[in-house]
Amino acid sequence: MFAMMEAARLEALHLAQDPATGLKAIIAIHNTRFGPALGGCRYLAYPDHVSALRDAIRLAQGMSYKAALAGIEHGGGKAVIIRPSHVDNRGALFEAFGRFIETLNGRYITAVDSGTSSADMDCIAQHTRHVTSTTAEGDPSPHTAMGVFAGIRATAQARLGSDDLEGLRVAVQGLGHVGYALAEQLAVAGADLLVSDLDPGRVQLAVEQLGARPVASEALLTTPCDILAPCGLGGILNAETVGQLRCAAVAGAANNQLASAEIADELEARGILYAPDYVINSGGLIYVALRHRGDALPAITAHLSRIGLRLTEIYAHAQADKRSPARVADALAERLLYGEG
Ligand code: NAD
Repeated sequence: MFAMMEAARLEALHLAQDPATGLKAIIAIHNTRFGPALGGCRYLAYPDHVSALRDAIRLAQGMSYKAALAGIEHGGGKAVIIRPSHVDNRGALFEAFGRFIETLNGRYITAVDSGTSSADMDCIAQHTRHVTSTTAEGDPSPHTAMGVFAGIRATAQARLGSDDLEGLRVAVQGLGHVGYALAEQLAVAGADLLVSDLDPGRVQLAVEQLGARPVASEALLTTPCDILAPCGLGGILNAETVGQLRCAAVAGAANNQLASAEIADELEARGILYAPDYVINSGGLIYVALRHRGDALPAITAHLSRIGLRLTEIYAHAQADKRSPARVADALAERLLYGEG
């Protein structure tokens, strides 16, 4: 366990269990240099406890990098609740998790993530104020989409010489909370939308409401386009797919798009500009952080629009250093977090 913590440079790991509700929870606090750790709470079944621990640590580290480059006064953290095979009272389980968070005196602030909802956050909020994305605070997804849209414009400018999206072929993989909101903005900007989702109903909606062209899920990555916007699952840029892409740039919301760091170098070698995922998709984190602090919507929107500028800076560094933007973003984050890179 300590080897895992050391490898990730994790500050602290907290565990709690509560037999009365079935709670088994892990909170990983990666780095608090810029403020309390902020990051979502996953509620998933894991094959074993080590997998859950590994997930919490890896995700907490990612949140530190994301928060550092987003310029918010937070560090990175993540919580994992191991989903029991059966739970009598989900509300009571999340209330118990709220009591656990409260024992950390504000060093970790939680949020919605895979398997959790705003209703779960409301249960947590009964016992601690260190919780965001409650029903009252709202869904961060539209704000993530706004940030990705700003990032796509910056990417188009850097790779294609103009941030005008009129007529640009943008392929959106995944039309969920973020992907659909992004597709709506792209349609308004006049982009030529190509879309896929595992749910044919989502695709049909985009065809009817946004004039999008449907593409079979298995064909989207290899469809010729200007910008590929992955908004489904992570890991889609891997040794198998990277050689088959037929786009000028990849810029989308999905977390952990690169199967490994080396894939970023392969994209670079192929002349495909890659928007580092944790930079372009930081809108949701910015929203929950600033909303939690009590900022008004115009201030939040202004902060979101800076995602485009941040990417432009990263692209400029990458071009000057002849390195992938992903490597540049990691180095910038490490310099901020540890004074190195
Ligand atoms: P979601 O579950 O609402 O939507 C994902 C959609 O992708 C679903 O409709 C699913 O059917 C589709 N999908 C999955 N695999 C696919 C495939 N191979 N081909 C086509 N479609 C596929 O999730 P979301 O909240 O929209 O998040 C999307 C991605 O963005 C995730 O990777 C998430 O981690 C990341 N992200 C989300 C936020 C946020 O604010 N919601 C913030 C940062 C990052």
